[in-house]
Amino acid sequence: MPVIEFMVLSNNLPTKFTAYADYNIVSGKDCVAKEGVLIKKYASKIFIVTGKNSARKCGALDDFEKLFKENGIEYEIYDGITENPHIDLCREAAKKCVKFGADGVLGIGGGSPLDAAKAIAVFAVNPNLSEEDLYADNYENPLPVFACGTTAGTGSEVTSYSIMTLGYGEEALKKGWGSKRVLPKITFCDARYTMSMPKMSTLATGIDAAAHCIEAYFRKTTGIFVRMYALAGIEMIWPVLKKAFTEELTYEDRERILYGSVLAGLAIENSGTCFPHSAGYAITTTYGIPHGFACGYFTAEFLRLHSIDYKEDVDKFLNIMHTSPDEIEALYYSVLPSFSHTPKDLQMLIKKGSKSKNIHSAMYEGDEGFCEYVYRKVFDNLDKYKK
Ligand code: NAP
Ligand code: ZN
Repeated sequence: MPVIEFMVLSNNLPTKFTAYADYNIVSGKDCVAKEGVLIKKYASKIFIVTGKNSARKCGALDDFEKLFKENGIEYEIYDGITENPHIDLCREAAKKCVKFGADGVLGIGGGSPLDAAKAIAVFAVNPNLSEEDLYADNYENPLPVFACGTTAGTGSEVTSYSIMTLGYGEEALKKGWGSKRVLPKITFCDARYTMSMPKMSTLATGIDAAAHCIEAYFRKTTGIFVRMYALAGIEMIWPVLKKAFTEELTYEDRERILYGSVLAGLAIENSGTCFPHSAGYAITTTYGIPHGFACGYFTAEFLRLHSIDYKEDVDKFLNIMHTSPDEIEALYYSVLPSFSHTPKDLQMLIKKGSKSKNIHSAMYEGDEGFCEYVYRKVFDNLDKYKK
């Protein structure tokens, strides 16, 4: 393999040098016990937000309860967050947060509880906030947010984004909002908490993390810092993700992919994602397919399309990953779930997908024609891989 020099420089993409950073990441085995008391700088009455089971099962919730008891921090647990959290669920949870009188919100879990924690922190202070004002970042300062990730992952523990499900039934759609004011004040990264993830969740969340590196790198607004995070992230994520298709992961593997996913989070925090995400949202809301898999349907095609104008940059990724778009496609489609892909499904996805405004890759804007092209590709692949 050739040595890649000056990896972050690109001859074609812009060299924006602006970057914002306002995070405190603590990491390593037992970082909650060792450094969790830092939370006391910000809050003394914590509303803990989790999903149904995993926060307890992975050991994180026990560790925080112990920490809080030992340090005189009051807490209440809300364990009702479901996958792809609905905005109305977050409003309901916020009422409990207010009733408890919390002065801080801690999310423990995958992206769903972490994103929900951010929304709850806003609604707790702004109970009657309209959807429009939430999305316009127009509200009183939220409660401080703290985050402990248990998947590797969305990177939500270091982003100011939160992705909500809005509407119901046929009208349901996923839409992100963001504010630097909900960026977690302290992020806890202990790979022990990811050890309990089953194979399919490991793959789905790892595919998501890889997608964050790849998409952030080619986002129009991206710059040198993002490319640093993205390339370092993919270097840590990819070998472990590839291994996870066929083998059990060790603690060291889990630590690598977790830290890689956090770097990927920092990449999207300073730029954003591209069409695999926005087009994937419609697949998740329509067929209930996990977020990471929904993005994964598009990753190989995203690289192929960008190699037309940005071959040198695509090659940087492929060199680090020691792979090709064809190999990524075959690997991903070996696990990507099947879903109904009739002509009627295609029309519905185009209609939903083209509502997304989040397709700002270096070369493609999200018009309907483009949306149709990318969904058609996925439908063809589902046939090609006999799904
Ligand atoms: P998730 O939706 O948070 O969780 C998926 C499943 O994994 C749940 O059943 C959960 O169980 C389980 N789980 C979590 N941690 C586990 C562990 N350590 N062991 C065993 N099971 C575990 O998954 P996710 O992929 O991390 O998050 C997806 C969400 O994040 C989507 O809504 C996506 O849009 C969003 N997202 C946000 C950002 C951002 O920057 N904010 C970026 C990308 C994606 P429990 O329900 O019991 O917890
Ligand atoms: Zn994602």
